Amino acid sequence: MSAQCAVKAGTTHRVVVLGAGYAGMSAAVQLAARIGSRHDVRVIVVNGQERFTERLRLHMTATGQQLAELCVPGLLQGTGAVFECGWVTSLDAQTRTVRIDDDRVLSYDTLVYGLGGVADTAAVPGVAEHAHTLDGVQGAEVLAGRLARLGSGTVVVAGSGLTGVETAAEIAERHPGLHVVLLGRTEPGADLNPKTRAYVHAALERLGVRVRSGVEVVKVLPAAVELAGAGSVAADVVVWAGGTRVSPVAAAAGLIVDERGRIVTDAALRSVSHPQVYAVGDAAAIRQGYGIMHGTCQSGMPTGVHAAVSILRSLRGRQPKPFRFGYYHTPISLGRNDAVVQFTRPDGSPRRMRLTGRTAVRYKETVTASPWPTWGRMKKMPAAGAVWPRGGRFTRTGKTR
Ligand SMILES: Cc1cc2nc3c(=O)[nH]c(=O)nc-3n(C[C@H](O)[C@H](O)[C@H](O)COP(=O)(O)OP(=O)(O)OC[C@H]3O[C@@H](n4cnc5c(N)ncnc54)[C@H](O)[C@@H]3O)c2cc1C
Repeated sequence: MSAQCAVKAGTTHRVVVLGAGYAGMSAAVQLAARIGSRHDVRVIVVNGQERFTERLRLHMTATGQQLAELCVPGLLQGTGAVFECGWVTSLDAQTRTVRIDDDRVLSYDTLVYGLGGVADTAAVPGVAEHAHTLDGVQGAEVLAGRLARLGSGTVVVAGSGLTGVETAAEIAERHPGLHVVLLGRTEPGADLNPKTRAYVHAALERLGVRVRSGVEVVKVLPAAVELAGAGSVAADVVVWAGGTRVSPVAAAAGLIVDERGRIVTDAALRSVSHPQVYAVGDAAAIRQGYGIMHGTCQSGMPTGVHAAVSILRSLRGRQPKPFRFGYYHTPISLGRNDAVVQFTRPDGSPRRMRLTGRTAVRYKETVTASPWPTWGRMKKMPAAGAVWPRGGRFTRTGKTR
């Protein structure tokens, strides 16, 4: 199958972007801004809800903090991209159509698939029935209401990755009357350097979070979580932060996906089985020299921009360039008054350098609030969005360090 797709005279090339998260929005804004007044290319953005989900702040929503209400049509304003509100229920890669809410069908010439990921509620029995997750604003608000009503009791945060750490810290700070327990296989901050990890531990301790690492949650019950060979922990509320899964739409459509359901891409971010489909953000399995990228906002936005630039190159009859990205930081909030920023090598491994305390809080806030100004700049100056660290020797494929 050829990926070359220069627009034929008199026709309109339809680019449909699925998912208006960090990656999908970056693709849509970049593409629409670069197209400008061209009438032969149309960009349509599909998202389950009108409100932009600030995933990076869902632990704040879950503790009753009011966030700015960002809406997708507002963020797309002035770009010419069209917003279509609805849930993608299936994709037919042969007819190049997408079904929305089971009752509408959209056709595309090129698809940008950016449906992100959600908490893996199928990971252990009982999660779907008895645990809260941080996937969307509505669910986070339900959790906020429950925590506010609780007054006293135990909240178990299951999963000691960074989402679990940020969530446990936020709940403990906002609800000092609650007993917060953070459970997980690894110790919090396992991938950070030892001093940064120690800082995270000290912050959790100061906030009163009880950490139990080296444990495996095997079941969530109505008022407890069961651990493998280590009894159970009573819980009034359980928050599941034990891993994510992606939407089944791509796999069901017959696209080649990895063992986690992410679309396997070529170097230019096109599906290896269906090159008219670009995969971006958490929904994509993208290989770099250091391995498959892990999903983050810092990497998701560049994938969206790169897909947009590649689509335009293809429309001009040129080959898309390979995508290269190197991580540079891991900012972690520890409540509202503390944070830590671990600077990293391009492969995500920790450097010695880090920020802590108020400086880290300001850094983290600047990063978290940066997407919409970035999109605003992109609308005026598309090239401004195409700058990110390429990772040097770390991201060269086929080369071991
Ligand atoms: C509490 C928390 C804190 C985090 N903190 C950080 C951080 O500090 N730094 C960082 O880099 N990363 C952080 N992450 C991870 C980061 O949020 C994700 O990596 C990022 O959101 C991925 O962007 P994305 O565009 O791929 O997906 P998303 O942002 O998840 O966007 C996907 C969009 O697609 C929509 N969608 C999904 N399925 C469908 C469907 N079937 N039909 C229609 N629409 C659909 C969703 O509603 C959403 O709007 C955090 C995550 C959480 C949960």
